[in-house]
Amino acid sequence: MAQRMRLKLRTVFVLYFLVSLLGLVYALMQLGQRCDCTEHDLPYERTISRLRGELHKLQEDIHKIESSPQAQKPKSSLPTIYVITPTYARLVQKAELTRLSQSLLHVPALHWILVEDAAQKTTLVSNLLRNSGLSYTHLHMPTAPQRKLHEGDPNWLKPRGVEQRNEGLRWLREDRRALPGGVSEQGVVYFADDDNTYSLQLFQEMRSTQKVSVWPVGLVGAMKYESPTVKAGKVVGFHTGWRPSRPFPIDMAGFAVSLRLLLTHPDTCFDGDAPQGFLESSLLQGLVTMDELEPRADNCTKVLVWHTRTEKPKLKREEALQAQGLGSDPAVEV
Ligand code: UDP
Ligand code: MN
Repeated sequence: MAQRMRLKLRTVFVLYFLVSLLGLVYALMQLGQRCDCTEHDLPYERTISRLRGELHKLQEDIHKIESSPQAQKPKSSLPTIYVITPTYARLVQKAELTRLSQSLLHVPALHWILVEDAAQKTTLVSNLLRNSGLSYTHLHMPTAPQRKLHEGDPNWLKPRGVEQRNEGLRWLREDRRALPGGVSEQGVVYFADDDNTYSLQLFQEMRSTQKVSVWPVGLVGAMKYESPTVKAGKVVGFHTGWRPSRPFPIDMAGFAVSLRLLLTHPDTCFDGDAPQGFLESSLLQGLVTMDELEPRADNCTKVLVWHTRTEKPKLKREEALQAQGLGSDPAVEV
């Protein structure tokens, strides 16, 4: 009797052991399985699938834009902006040209015509242009001695940069065709002095010039700004503090001319003998009437270029040190 009881107990115990073992084996197998995470990862899966959908849509959009006729057009279909800059050697020249060239680097389809007021091209300017990353032409044309300003002369005495701008015009009319893509007559010409400040938006505004486009210039003519006055989209006069009766009382920085117009008027250029303040008029008079001027910069209400001028550096300490043989190393280019 007791033996049968013991046998029964042992059987129950073994069964119990086997069931526990099976349970344990099952639990271990489940641990090794990848869990079905659908339940708690649903938002994550949804986000991924939504983003995949958006990515797919964006890829389709890119494809559509890239295969549109507009994108197929060569980039050179933008009219080239030819920027003519007269420049002369002085202590701040490299600083001015560095600032200007790095502004111009942001402008697409631009060709810089840099004209040195010098008997020969200088190494400083040649190196600067070579390292500028710009498309450029390097010219030189010395100002005739009788036209040159001398130390101490007031700057209004004689017009500056005239022969250089005219040399730039000569290059455009005679030599430009040798450039790759230089046969196109679609282009815009802008006279940019090396010391002014130019907004990149200015270049977008002038790109569509048909004949002559105009806009305000800040900090010029002893005024906050000078500007053409516009009524119903037409230039009807000029806001200027000095001789408003001039044919075109516009600063050099305040207009751009279409290349085609310059090519169809092959003899029009700047007159270095024009009375003070009439240099811009001497060119524009031969090309357009006031009525034909194309106002830009929100009908001439925005200043996008400033006639800034750089202070001449004072070298009192340098000179004192030089007198003791302790001046700055002349081999260091400034
Ligand atoms: N310039 C020049 N030779 C000179 C003086 C000036 O080529 O003897 C250039 C100068 O680098 C600038 C432009 O002509 O690009 C106008 O000169 P500046 O800025 O001195 O004129 P302002 O600001 O007084 O009108
Ligand atoms: Mn200047």
